[in-house]
Amino acid sequence: MTVPEFFGCKVFDDRQMRARLSAKVYASLKETIDNGKKLDLSVANAVAQAMCAWAVENGATHFTHWFQPMTGITAEKHDGFISPAPNGGVIMEFSGKELIQGEPDASSFPSGGLRATFEARGYTAWDPTSYAFIKENTLCIPTAFCSYGGEALDKKTPLLRSMEALNTQAMRILRLFGSKDVKRVVTSVGPEQEYFLVDREMYLKRKDLVYTGRTLFGAMPPKGQELDDHYFGAIKPRVQAYMEDLNEELWKLGILAKTEHNEVAPAQHELAPIYTTTNVATDHNQLTMEIMKKVARKHGLACLLHEKPFAGVNGSGKHNNWSMATNTGVNLLSPGDTPYENAQFLLFLAAVIQAVDDYQGLLRMSVATAGNDHRLGANEAPPAVISMFLGDELNAVLEAIENDTPYAGVEKMRIRLGADVLPRFNRDTTDRNRTSPFAFTGNKFEFRMVGSSNSIACANVMINAAVAESLRQFADALESAEDFDRCLHDLIRDTIKAHKRIIFNGNGYDDAWIAEATEKRGLLNLRTTPDALRPLLEEKNIRMLTEHKVYTESELRSRYEIQLENYVRTVRIEALTMVDMARKDILPAIMAYCSALTDSIERKKAIGSGISFGYESRLAGRLSGLADRIDEAVSVLDGAVKTLDGMEDYVAAADFTRDEIISKMAELRSGCDEAETLTAAEYWPFPTYGDLLFGV
Ligand code: ADP
Ligand code: MG
Repeated sequence: MTVPEFFGCKVFDDRQMRARLSAKVYASLKETIDNGKKLDLSVANAVAQAMCAWAVENGATHFTHWFQPMTGITAEKHDGFISPAPNGGVIMEFSGKELIQGEPDASSFPSGGLRATFEARGYTAWDPTSYAFIKENTLCIPTAFCSYGGEALDKKTPLLRSMEALNTQAMRILRLFGSKDVKRVVTSVGPEQEYFLVDREMYLKRKDLVYTGRTLFGAMPPKGQELDDHYFGAIKPRVQAYMEDLNEELWKLGILAKTEHNEVAPAQHELAPIYTTTNVATDHNQLTMEIMKKVARKHGLACLLHEKPFAGVNGSGKHNNWSMATNTGVNLLSPGDTPYENAQFLLFLAAVIQAVDDYQGLLRMSVATAGNDHRLGANEAPPAVISMFLGDELNAVLEAIENDTPYAGVEKMRIRLGADVLPRFNRDTTDRNRTSPFAFTGNKFEFRMVGSSNSIACANVMINAAVAESLRQFADALESAEDFDRCLHDLIRDTIKAHKRIIFNGNGYDDAWIAEATEKRGLLNLRTTPDALRPLLEEKNIRMLTEHKVYTESELRSRYEIQLENYVRTVRIEALTMVDMARKDILPAIMAYCSALTDSIERKKAIGSGISFGYESRLAGRLSGLADRIDEAVSVLDGAVKTLDGMEDYVAAADFTRDEIISKMAELRSGCDEAETLTAAEYWPFPTYGDLLFGV
């Protein structure tokens, strides 16, 4: 079969809906999907029936409400379609009620105390804007997950709300510009996914990879990424076979996997899909991560999605390419052909600039996890300080507006809004800076702080909500303006003036920039998760997010609690894994090697004088010293975990984790890594960095 023939064959997509639903049902469902019309039960019943028939024809026996609880992964509970028939047989059945609403026994999903205040259980509700699909033998129905009180217990609900908030405010602006045919503004995302592939046998020999997704020990091999010979290099046959298989699986699920290449580090790769509606892109990215791992197993590989699987080697992120467009296909972040289109473009641009500056804390918060702390704020791409890159050309335009001076020295190009045409910004001039956390790349923004294992939901919730807030303020001003053109001009100029501190076109990794950003510009530098989560509780942020109905205040407080606890738990598992590996694997290996050395010394002594054993005794001495140091560090770390376990206040526990546990883990690691460099290879108990990074 050719790709167009099998693309989307496991998806109940528009083609299936058109073919299997009556014209009336199809039209009604389309209204729900495109314009958010409420779905009535008769339509739901018809859709459920068609969906079930299609799924059964394609081998499905079960269905599940597929949802994204706050654990960051996806959850599903399978139910069979079978229902007894009067003749003793069974029929395959699925009702509209089952389609639109399910009721998982979800008491073990984190809710940060939310569910207790409402009902014991949550319910799931079909999100008709994301197509149902078949995975293994199960029809998966993309679903939102709420408490009976209506509080969001998942990542999809706030995302849908944030898209709605942005739509509402952007439509107010478009109406002011005289737009009549536009019905909706939709945000789109193309997430570029980075990952590592290692040999599965080796992976299974490392408890740290199996339990925590990253290596907790490991000395640097003689060769790392310094030769830059991996990036865009030829793809190895085994990896090539994996990528082909992966693409096929993703295409069957209607996921537009498009680009693949090797990344900076050895064994690191990237996959980029073609962008789509934020909501669908989020579902697709969750599925992509799952399929990546599954296909890897089939190829004797393990796919590492952790942000920092290897210390000292480039980490993995997810570049979230974000834009807003009308349902008529106009990208609102693309300069247009007429002066009015350009003024509109500049207004939307200004809205994003203001949003990123005003809500830096929330953007930073949206990507805060224990894993991502190893990238952000660790002299790696990108820094924890949020800034925006606009490129020289656009910067010159903004400067001209700010100072009311001619653009590029051409008097004719004086930016009088509503009077001049802007140049087109092609990506060559906009995408040179790879160090910026939030870069304008021609017709979209690329938010580069998202961690490789993160759901992209939270980042997009915050971007959408913050931009909706700028647009609300702009719409308020413009709707009541006496002179629209003047107000528009002043609004753009004043916004640039007020928020230009967030714009930085230089090298984001530079220490001098971090100093300038924090000391001169007053930008936030929240380096660790406990600090980065705090903006969630700030008055100004709560007000914005609740006013736009993206979160309720209790949802925000619960998310703060869940994420903070998640941070503590993640690091705690890492610490315990280190203790286990050091005691059961590393120290015994060092001892075994030391005893081989001392045996040799004994044998040489037995032969008599004249045979030197200085090498063995020096080495055994160094290793014994290291073993003492490791033993001490293990006890200290173990003790710190016990102290942590005794702490009741989760905020204090998170601070203790950051300040005490992590530094003790580093001390233990440094002793073990040094021992690794001194111990004979055959004694070392698990595959090394060199084995893992160059072993595929
Ligand atoms: P790269 O950044 O790797 O050079 P591209 O810029 O071509 O590659 O694309 C990166 C991602 O951005 C892809 O997922 C692509 O589909 C997505 N993308 C392109 N245009 C838009 C847009 N208007 N809105 C959102 N995402 C987009
Ligand atoms: Mg890119």
